Amino acid sequence: MIIAIDGTTSSGKGTLAKRLAAHYRLPHLDTGLLYRAVAASALTKGIGVQDERECALLAEHIELSDFDERELRGAGVGAAASVVASLGAVRRALFELQRRFALKEGGAVLDGRDIGTVIAPDADVKLWIDASVEERARRRFKELSGMGEDVTQESVLAQLRERDARDAGRKDAPMKPADDAVWIDTTALDPDQTLAKAVEIVEAKRLVLKPKAKAPAKPRAKKQPKV
Ligand code: C5P
Repeated sequence: MIIAIDGTTSSGKGTLAKRLAAHYRLPHLDTGLLYRAVAASALTKGIGVQDERECALLAEHIELSDFDERELRGAGVGAAASVVASLGAVRRALFELQRRFALKEGGAVLDGRDIGTVIAPDADVKLWIDASVEERARRRFKELSGMGEDVTQESVLAQLRERDARDAGRKDAPMKPADDAVWIDTTALDPDQTLAKAVEIVEAKRLVLKPKAKAPAKPRAKKQPKV
C-alpha cells in the first residue's frame, strides 16, 4: 500500500507521516529532507541556490545519511530548499530515488508537496494536510525557538506565507492537492486526533482495496440414478 501525504509547511504532515508509517509498519520518506539536503549542500559549497545546473548535479549524488537532520530542519535551510525545489532539473534529478522508494515491496509512506500528483499518482491513499496559516506559524515558531533559533512569530508567519506562495506558484510540480486526495484540516486537531482521522481514511480505503472473497462454489447437481 502506497500512502501519499502532501500539504503545507508545518501543517502536521511530517508528524502524521511518521506515525502512520509506524502504525502500518511501512518505510517512510520525508521528501522535504531531500530538497533541504540539496540546499544545505549548495550553501556549504558556495553554490547559488538558483544555479540549476550545479544544484541538479548535487541532487544527483545526494545521500541523506551524509547530513545531520537537525541542521537540515533549520529555518534558513528550509527557505533555501524552497528556492532549490523550484528548479526543474533538481526535481528531475530527485524523481527516480523517490519513485523507487514509493515502489518498495509491501508499500511505503511518502510526504511532501507533489507525492500524490507527480511521484506516486498511483498511490492507494492520498492525503492533503493543511491548517490555518496562523496556527502553522504558531507551531513553527515553537519548533524553531525550541531549536534555539532567534525568530519571532511575525517573522515566521511572513516566511510561511512567502514559502506557500513560492511552492504553490512554481512551474514544475507546484504544491497542490491531487484531485482524489482526502483533506484533513489539522487547525484544531492534535497529533493523536490527526492520526486517528488518517487511520480511519486508510482503513476505509483498505476495505475497497481488499481482493474480493471468492464466491463459494455452487454445489454440483447429483446425478439422478437411471430408472
Ligand atoms: O517539507 P519541508 O518543509 O521540509 O520541505 C522543504 C521545501 O522543499 C518545501 O518548502 C518545498 O519547496 C520543497 N519540497 C518540494 N516537494 C516535495 C517536498 C518538499 O518541493 N515533495
